[in-house]
Amino acid sequence: MIAQNLETVRKRIGEACARCGRNPVEIRLLVVSKTFSAQQIGEAISAGQLEFGENFVQELRAKREELKDERIRWHFSGHLQSNKVKYLVDFVHLIHSVDSLSLAQEIQKRGEKVGRSLDVLIEVHTTEEETKSGVMPAEAVGLIKSISNLSRVNIRGLMTMGPFSDDPEDSRPSFQQLVAVKDKVLQEGIERVSMQELSMGMTHDFEVGVEEGATIIRLGTAIFGPRTHE
Ligand SMILES: *Cc1c(COP(=O)(O)O)cnc(C)c1O
Repeated sequence: MIAQNLETVRKRIGEACARCGRNPVEIRLLVVSKTFSAQQIGEAISAGQLEFGENFVQELRAKREELKDERIRWHFSGHLQSNKVKYLVDFVHLIHSVDSLSLAQEIQKRGEKVGRSLDVLIEVHTTEEETKSGVMPAEAVGLIKSISNLSRVNIRGLMTMGPFSDDPEDSRPSFQQLVAVKDKVLQEGIERVSMQELSMGMTHDFEVGVEEGATIIRLGTAIFGPRTHE
């Protein structure tokens, strides 16, 4: 089932790429495994998937401990509390959700302590919805400039979430806004800052993400089926 879902998703990525003239190798599939079991992750690994994203630090640590598989690249895609950075600093591959200077400063501090630099994305708030995290687009350049001074924090790009909606087209303006922020950051030519990665697109809108230039799409439901709790 999981192997089949992965295959179906890869096919759909290929079709979306064909529509917009992109090469599928430009797009990384991140499987968001929150609420799903280590065993289900194991099934995805058997089908060749090695990048997984989690939203809760404790859950991530428990699954990592259970799986003990050094090939896995663990991403953190949820809201990250500063006091939890210390539990991720040793191994996390990419943090998708940096949206404040204070969080970046904590990553800097913990990174210095263990002698590791961490790759992060800046999460940008691109919808009208009030509940979602992320820096406002107008404040993104300022935040990125401040964070760029932190030697242990490597900004690799941007992340956003589209609106909650059944219609994937509703996400297109969000994703276009993320690309606009990326262009603005590039225009500023900020030292040490890369805009290589755009993490945008989930189960209901990943094809729109691909069409708008995503380099990472984050899928849970499409791979594992519906979540029974959050
Ligand atoms: C849960 C989650 C996803 C995956 O959502 P699906 O709709 O199940 O694909 C992607 N990104 C973030 C930040 C999430 O919290």
